[in-house]
Amino acid sequence: MKTKIYMDHAATTPVRPEVLQEILPYFTEYYGNASGIYGIAKESKKALEKAREQVAAGIGAKASEIYFTAGGSESDNMALRGVAQARRQKGNHIITTKIEHHAILHTCEYLEKNGYDVTYLDVDTDGKIRLDDLKAAIRPETILISVMFANNEIGTIEPIAEIGQIAREKGIYFHTDAVQAMGHVEIDVDKMQIDLLSISGHKLGAPKGIGAIYIRSGIQVSPLIFGGAQERKMRAGTENIPGIVGLGKAVELAVAELPETKERLEKMRDRLISGILENIPHSRLNGHPTDRLPGNCNVSFEFIEGESMLLLLDALGVAASSGSACTSGSLDPSHVLLAIGLPHEKAHGSLRLTLDMDNTEEDIDFVLEKLPPLVARLREMSPLGHDAE
Ligand SMILES: *Cc1c(COP(=O)(O)O)cnc(C)c1O
Repeated sequence: MKTKIYMDHAATTPVRPEVLQEILPYFTEYYGNASGIYGIAKESKKALEKAREQVAAGIGAKASEIYFTAGGSESDNMALRGVAQARRQKGNHIITTKIEHHAILHTCEYLEKNGYDVTYLDVDTDGKIRLDDLKAAIRPETILISVMFANNEIGTIEPIAEIGQIAREKGIYFHTDAVQAMGHVEIDVDKMQIDLLSISGHKLGAPKGIGAIYIRSGIQVSPLIFGGAQERKMRAGTENIPGIVGLGKAVELAVAELPETKERLEKMRDRLISGILENIPHSRLNGHPTDRLPGNCNVSFEFIEGESMLLLLDALGVAASSGSACTSGSLDPSHVLLAIGLPHEKAHGSLRLTLDMDNTEEDIDFVLEKLPPLVARLREMSPLGHDAE
């Protein structure tokens, strides 16, 4: 079945036509290496610096504070490993949360094996950290706090400005993984006192394999990739000019359209959520009811497996995702759903529908029409389902 309705924008997004159009000449016409001194090289260099300005403007930073990477995972690695190494003399303690993306969590595990100590903060039942827990976790040797801006599974938005203030008062660097927030929530690195921030192109209408990291000037970070002098020696390797041009354009568009997009997505999201909760018994919303990403709907249904729901939805042409074990390729359900206190069986029966501008009200109607009978059918088939009667 061909996908008719795409509701997995938190996993990736299509490249926007305006972005694609901007990128194309950089494959065949302006293919120069930005380090060269001849005509087409200068075109590449110009495009690189324009994109740097566009990304910087999107978060209230200076262009000189933006470094391009190969995506969100690389930016997260660079923030954590780069700061850990650069500030080793000052301390070895890092604070993060239990609901981070694996690009953060697995990097922290690696650092733990290499002499660093990591505190993983709990979250409340809505998925927010408690500021008192954060304050209590701070030690003299704490060098970095890394808390995601918004969660990719349940959409909860963290109290970023408050965390920034606490970190700044203590002289601790503050990194935020803003991959999901960029283009969907307003970001101002000065107002929010953010020192390092990760973004990724393919979550906001640019291609896969391009990302950026914001590093406030004066912040010490060691590079991960050595080689040429690209990105002021912070990230060697010939620049991915088409990707960079695409990221710059995507950020510019997303930030300019943000108020309008937010309003439209929130309306669709809320109709989807309330339609599901009202029409499907034994269902619950995961994540914060209001402080959540405009396009995120994450719900759990008792007595069924997320995986079987996804297969039936796919047969109807709907692309969605789940926090169930099978989709993650491990036996345990989503670490995020467990962290907000869901028991295993409820975490297994979760469904994540993430919307963006290419979704329509008709898409919402379709899902609201098809989902209740689909869940009822699965419950009839399930040995657990009879408890639902
Ligand atoms: C997708 C995602 C990443 C990883 O970004 P890539 O560009 O795919 O490497 C990191 N953090 C969050 C919150 C994400 O949603």
